[in-house]
Amino acid sequence: MCVPEIFLDANATTPVLPEISQIMQRLCCNQFGNPSSSHLAGAMPKRIIADARKAAAQVFNVVDGRFIFNSGATEGINTAVLSVLAEYTGQNRKNAILLYGATEHKAVPEALKHWNHVLGVNAELLAIPVLADGALDIQFIAKHAPNALILCTMGANNETGVIQDLQAIARAIGGKDKQLPWLVDSVQVLGKVPLDLGALPIDYATFSAHKLYGPKGTGCLFIREGAPYTPLQHGGGQEHGERGGTENVAGIAALARIFDWLLDPQQSPLQAMDTLAGYREELLLALKNLFPNLVLNQPYPESLPTTINFSVPGFESGKIIAIFDSAGIRVSAGSACSKGKPQSFVLKAMGLPDWQCEGAIRLSFGPASSAEFIQMAAARINAMADRLKNLDEAERSGLWVPDPLNVGFAVYADETSKSLYYVGNRDRVKTWLNSYFSTDEWKQQLLSEGEHKFADFTLKISETGDFCISHEKLGRALSFNDSGVILSSEYLENVETIAPEIVSSGEYSFLDVREPLETCMQEAPKFGAGGWVSQRADWCRLALEFEGNTANQPVVAICRSGGRSLSVAALVRAAGGPNVLSCEGGVTDVVHFLAAKESVI
Ligand code: PLP
Repeated sequence: MCVPEIFLDANATTPVLPEISQIMQRLCCNQFGNPSSSHLAGAMPKRIIADARKAAAQVFNVVDGRFIFNSGATEGINTAVLSVLAEYTGQNRKNAILLYGATEHKAVPEALKHWNHVLGVNAELLAIPVLADGALDIQFIAKHAPNALILCTMGANNETGVIQDLQAIARAIGGKDKQLPWLVDSVQVLGKVPLDLGALPIDYATFSAHKLYGPKGTGCLFIREGAPYTPLQHGGGQEHGERGGTENVAGIAALARIFDWLLDPQQSPLQAMDTLAGYREELLLALKNLFPNLVLNQPYPESLPTTINFSVPGFESGKIIAIFDSAGIRVSAGSACSKGKPQSFVLKAMGLPDWQCEGAIRLSFGPASSAEFIQMAAARINAMADRLKNLDEAERSGLWVPDPLNVGFAVYADETSKSLYYVGNRDRVKTWLNSYFSTDEWKQQLLSEGEHKFADFTLKISETGDFCISHEKLGRALSFNDSGVILSSEYLENVETIAPEIVSSGEYSFLDVREPLETCMQEAPKFGAGGWVSQRADWCRLALEFEGNTANQPVVAICRSGGRSLSVAALVRAAGGPNVLSCEGGVTDVVHFLAAKESVI
């Protein structure tokens, strides 16, 4: 029942590999000296840092530049931006521009905005557009470079894996003779695409250990000789006075091991590019089995061989993540919330249609993935496909209120006469009906004012279009307006929530309110009595009809991750039904507690 987690979100972060954690443990527990100490305990840590610096220079073929160890890419980006803009402090350069790629990680525009303001540079931030394949518009860069104070681009994009043509960018700004300071966020290329800082006129490059099996909060910044530099932190003179603060020796040693791997591929767990490309192909094949109509949101050959970004027509990203999560696979939505709807600004910048930007899923694996891991992941995805194919068609007769908390309409479907009776928001009802019922098969009828009876339900519609659904026999009712059920905060606040470890004690019966797509991917835990699988469209019917548990066991609503069960419990209460508790976590948490209990026994 407790499925092992398959982590396919390596562009967000990677686990620390045992080889690295052993090194770190040694440096935290045994050779823990302060590199600034003049006694012998400081000697080894000092040497580790010096060796790591040398290894970094070798990996990136650096001849005229240096590395500073820091907390990661966000710090590196801020340091580079500060270093360049500090040269223009207080100059109010209103006609100058700060050039950055439209698909950069948020750290870049945010750092530019901040230091531009704080230092009184007041230049204009100008985003470089990308073409449909995610590549930066090189002509745009060439045109604006003469007025720019800084250029910020990235090696590869974290959402789409699109690899930028750094040679072309270098040519556009004048090659080796260029004047414009150039920062390249190199986080996502580390270990995946070689980066030659000897051949490219890059002035600043940022790296982060946790994207390549190192710890979080560790990274380094490359600075070209002669490029402006201003420390972000001042203190005890560490890093040759360029970054104050006692060094994170264990983290730097982890980075050093990562550099060793890159210098000696034979001794490295990191796989070659073509092997990784083969792995990606295997996963894509499985994904196409699960979603035959998936659409890729990336130029496949020109993107990192470890990243797949796709959308599926008719599926928003939240739903796909829920399905994967239920099956124990962690993927991410390639998007952040903007204006209430999750939308990927990266895909938007590439000009992809809204549905693709809103439904994007990123699946990424680390370069040290083994063939067995990829096979296991593909097998899990193929098993999901089999389950999905066997999913029963939803039972369609009866009362439907799709998402009663948001959607202000109700439908009564009479299977015998193939008639649909509906009330409420007409635009929304049409969209939903079209996606759910084949409209030429069913007769549709809009209900107006008055009272309408269907089986045990009565719909009362007021002049203003508000409506109330009641259950005759149980005497329960729910009132709706255009934005869904009228559920005062009192109901939500009064739901009692209980922790998953209490639920797993077996003293409760449960109300399983996951959606069928989730339940078909993850079996319900075997605890307590009862169970009621319900999808969103059924919640209203459930609230009106749910009678509790005959064995008088308290009932706990349980969903995938804890939010939905609260709403359903509140709905049942608002309709006048029995008291239902809500499980704080979701099914997975309960499953984990049960598994832990079994292992103790
Ligand atoms: N730049 C890119 C492209 C990233 O993917 C990330 C991490 O998400 C960062 C910068 C920030 O890195 P860090 O976590 O080291 O601050």
